[in-house]
Amino acid sequence: MELHQLIPAGVKLVAVSKFHPYTMIQEAYDAGQRAFGESRVQELLEKIPRLPEDIEWHFIGHLQTNKVKQLVGNTALIESVDSEKLINLIDAESRKIGVVSKVLMQVHVAQEETKFGFLPEELVGYFREKRFETLTNTHICGIMGMASNTDDMSRVRADFAEIASVYRQIVGIQDLGLRGFDQISMGMSHDWPVAVEEGATIVRIGSSIFGERVY
Ligand SMILES: *Cc1c(COP(=O)(O)O)cnc(C)c1O
Repeated sequence: MELHQLIPAGVKLVAVSKFHPYTMIQEAYDAGQRAFGESRVQELLEKIPRLPEDIEWHFIGHLQTNKVKQLVGNTALIESVDSEKLINLIDAESRKIGVVSKVLMQVHVAQEETKFGFLPEELVGYFREKRFETLTNTHICGIMGMASNTDDMSRVRADFAEIASVYRQIVGIQDLGLRGFDQISMGMSHDWPVAVEEGATIVRIGSSIFGERVY
């Protein structure tokens, strides 16, 4: 069965096409897929002009501050905002060119130190102190996270549950005053069913769709 038939209605499938040629994206597009995920700015910018205009591009990789200017205005959703400095920069660049950027805040719960993101208490603090109120051209739509890279599915489930709990802590803040904060992006090829059970609204799936990546 096709993956998009297995994923429940109401959960968005982002097909992670990083490191795969645009021809494979076109094939998936022709089969009906519209949302694609890329993790490198240069690669994304090379693919955009070769592919249909109505593709919804999600940026899912670590975004260096010196690449923000190139990226802003070219994506439907930047899923990987991992610092306050970065969101402030995205906001400033968006204001300059007169667009509103949609973003997710990345939270770090996994065991690996190599992964990026706000620590849970840091992220909740950002919202509790309403530091987002200075943003004029950025719409924070929710949060994104990754589970630990392990076969231990109880560990993976605990990580997803923690991401969902961070989300609930944020929406539970009194008088938060944040509209349209309703997305939890979590789950990849090997762990997405668990992520969906724990409340994911967006899953990001690469190798199950396109095969293994050749780096
Ligand atoms: C590469 C990547 C994915 C997809 O991983 P697969 O295991 O190929 O499904 C999802 N999310 C992020 C942030 C990624 O970098």
